[in-house]
Amino acid sequence: MGDSKDTFESAKEALREKIRKVPDFPEKGVLFEDLTPVLADAHALRVVIKEMARVSENLGADLVGGLDARGFLLGSAVAYEMGVGILAIRKKGKLPPPVITQEYKTEYSTAALEIPASGIDLDGKKVVLVDDVLATGGTLSAATDLIQRAGGSVVGYVVMLEVQGLDGRSRLGDVPVVVLDQ
Ligand code: AMP
Repeated sequence: MGDSKDTFESAKEALREKIRKVPDFPEKGVLFEDLTPVLADAHALRVVIKEMARVSENLGADLVGGLDARGFLLGSAVAYEMGVGILAIRKKGKLPPPVITQEYKTEYSTAALEIPASGIDLDGKKVVLVDDVLATGGTLSAATDLIQRAGGSVVGYVVMLEVQGLDGRSRLGDVPVVVLDQ
């Protein structure tokens, strides 16, 4: 127990020190949480990945799903640390056919995510979805639909931080949501 509390506190501290908050980007009224400095710092990266891997293991995941694009950076390191594979959940148009496509609404438009429809067996897989920021929850919710349509299940969501006031969690059902910076 002592160990897990230490990793959790170290990850939280590293995030608080390194996150750069940028007002009015990419548009007025949005406080952009720039996590690039966290990824570029050896200590912060290590404690964040270790904590994400620890909670993902506790959730019983046997595959990591990383969200395009910052979720790839985190997700592949988490998967490596856990000794499992990574599924890159891509923005529309990047993967060759056949693909499974899921459209979703963002604040101002529609977007779509895709995964391969062949070559990866997701049947019965327990997937943890990893990303940097949970905002409206639209991205993680669409990724969940994709995993389920391919026969897998989502056992949890692990993100570095959550934008307050948007209630993104309400779109994610009863599955655990773990936010490091909380
Ligand atoms: P959402 O689908 O609304 O939960 O948005 C999540 C995606 O948008 C994540 O992949 C984030 O990288 C990005 N995002 C949304 N809001 C912010 C924010 N305030 N700061 C940084 N990234 C954000």
